[in-house]
Amino acid sequence: MLRRSCVIRGVVQGVGFRPHVARVAQTYAVSGFCGNDDESVFIEAQGESEEVAAFLAAVRSQLPPLATIISYEEVDLDPVVGDDAFRIVASQHTPGARTLIPPDVACCADCLAELHDPANRRYRYPFITCTNCGPRLSIIRDLPYDRPATTMVDFPMCAACRAEYENPADRRYHAQPISCFDCGPLLWLERGVGAGDDDDLLLWDDAIERAHELLDEGAILAVKGIGGFHLLCDASNEPAVARLRERKHRPDKPLAVMVSSLEAARGLAVLSPHQEQELLSPQRPIVLCPQGAGYALADSVAPGLADIGLMLPYAPLHELLITGDRAVVATSGNRAGEPLCFTNADALEALSDIADAFLMHDRGIHVPVEDSVLLADGDDTLPIRRSRGFAPLPVIIGSENVHLLAVGGEVKNTFAITRDGMAFLSAHIGDMGSLASQRAFERSVEQMMTMHRTAPDLVVADRHPGYATTGWAQRYCERTGTDLLQVQHHHAHALSLIAEHGRTGEEVLVAAYDGTGYGDDGTIWGGELLMIGADPLAFERVGHLPAFSMPGGESAVRNPWKLAVALLAEHGIDDAGLPPVHAAPQAELRLVRSQLSSGTAVVRTTSAGRTFDAIASLLGVRQHVTYEAQASMELERAARGCTHVEHGRAEAVTGLPELIASLVAGQRRGQKIGCLARLAHLGIAALTSRDLSHMATARGISTVGLTGGVFQNRLFTRAVREALLGNGLTVLTHQRVPANDGGLCLGQALAGYAHLTR
Ligand code: ZN
Ligand code: ZN
Ligand code: FE
Repeated sequence: MLRRSCVIRGVVQGVGFRPHVARVAQTYAVSGFCGNDDESVFIEAQGESEEVAAFLAAVRSQLPPLATIISYEEVDLDPVVGDDAFRIVASQHTPGARTLIPPDVACCADCLAELHDPANRRYRYPFITCTNCGPRLSIIRDLPYDRPATTMVDFPMCAACRAEYENPADRRYHAQPISCFDCGPLLWLERGVGAGDDDDLLLWDDAIERAHELLDEGAILAVKGIGGFHLLCDASNEPAVARLRERKHRPDKPLAVMVSSLEAARGLAVLSPHQEQELLSPQRPIVLCPQGAGYALADSVAPGLADIGLMLPYAPLHELLITGDRAVVATSGNRAGEPLCFTNADALEALSDIADAFLMHDRGIHVPVEDSVLLADGDDTLPIRRSRGFAPLPVIIGSENVHLLAVGGEVKNTFAITRDGMAFLSAHIGDMGSLASQRAFERSVEQMMTMHRTAPDLVVADRHPGYATTGWAQRYCERTGTDLLQVQHHHAHALSLIAEHGRTGEEVLVAAYDGTGYGDDGTIWGGELLMIGADPLAFERVGHLPAFSMPGGESAVRNPWKLAVALLAEHGIDDAGLPPVHAAPQAELRLVRSQLSSGTAVVRTTSAGRTFDAIASLLGVRQHVTYEAQASMELERAARGCTHVEHGRAEAVTGLPELIASLVAGQRRGQKIGCLARLAHLGIAALTSRDLSHMATARGISTVGLTGGVFQNRLFTRAVREALLGNGLTVLTHQRVPANDGGLCLGQALAGYAHLTR
């Protein structure tokens, strides 16, 4: 017989946590109590030790959908004589306390059943929600989280809704966003500007029915969802998808597809149990899945790729809209390079040239939240974009209460603030190239600081002088007198990995491979081996991929043939007759050659991403790209097409120049592109794992880490990891924040935390 006390910190308020604990307690022979305060649930459980342990394990493993555990602590107490029942005790709320804000999650099974039940008063009600589901972060204006502090303040509850809201036994008890046809937001469809006025506004089911017809006709719809607008069109209608691409100025970058059910997803892709689980999770992310035999979507949905980004409906409105075997492109409702539209006025203006009609409602979105994207490979989950369903859940980085703002990078931007030992990561903001994105960034920063009632004592930014976020941080610090800390790009990548694994204070050897980062020597880094010390601020560049000179400017990134010509020249390999030389316009080729030989207008780079791009060009896979990593992704696809075991013997590779030379030789012999692409992946993986293993041994390090966008390449990552594991090393990879620049702010936050607490 024992009594155990535990404290669970996390999102535990307003998510049905105490009834959940009481329900679980009924199935175990335990007595005691549970209660909650603003940021934790406390439980005391008494009984036989196995019963108590099983009960506490069940409490944590079968969580209510919106609850999230950030930390868990337990301690044993003396049993209380005569305690023979389990009860809920009153909540303890501190005035002005800062509860954790839950993320937005998908419509729950109970609400779905009601949505499709003709006898229910919310039958086909597009805004159905309860304690266990619906919008949260996206509608919260301020804390404490209560209806008046949300955009639902505009919709006073009717008597029926209020009765549910006030009844502790009801599923809608204290669920802030609940409403119904009588008291909630309105759904309507309106045509775009050019459509003339033959269509009146259509409401409710009439709007949805017309939206179905429009999709069938190949029209493009702007649809207001949970965190912003989507652009939707029929994914099997090639002219419709092509039109969407043309209007959105997005020629090739893959588009996500929403399907009605898991069944429908199985028809398009080969799904692993893990992928199915992620598709169905309450976060409802876009999951990148291998295209299956039944894949028959328009060619322009994911041109040149072997994967398809799938997601299931998450808003009740999607449930009504995406039905049967409908597969619909669902891409962010924004103009190229601009942030997501989330107000009706914005959407009507910014999307007027893109959408033929708008399916909208008048529930306000306060915080724009884009869809999350992840890879589910084997048992691993690798976030590509951490946004809806995850933001703004914190990552614990320490125990000190320091206040800082980490502004993140330039592309795939997210930022973070810290308090109480936690780093709160924003939803995806996007690329900072446009003024509109920079304004969206600034607005989101202000919003988050207001919400957490904090002002930073330190601002952390990248060292790149040209990043908009760095410039913003410098101006902010000058204006407010706040200290600024600039952290090298790949150092921040490495710290982000260390932070998410809670390995702060340990020595870790990290490979940080990505496209571009400003190096401490003024060159472009991106194939770095970094030794992170027990002091996270101390790092040493212990190795890197061989550097090469690339023609400066954006044009080399958009034209991998320039990278290939440069890489071959660097290593003295003859490029005559190879694909990059064929693809190059002759005048431009002459210019590139003269730049390389004179050393003018070139930059030195060790970038792994650019090295892969160059190889993609070399092998004739791609010479021009329209989105970042396009060439490398297509190279990976080609490599996955080869299954010859003998190419696995890449250990024989002695160095990158030798590898490039053997790729060229193989090509001249007429070897298959897929085989050479695979050899390139395995070769660079072998070089990387060999160097990491040697250095780890030499320094007595047992833990190595893999970070940076290049480690989103599954084939490459798997090869590096397997080799390292084979050498007896512990390998850290990303599971909670993206390996790409979307995770950078967490590493910056850890650097800032170390700076302020040292
Ligand atoms: Zn629900
Ligand atoms: Zn109502
Ligand atoms: Fe990066």
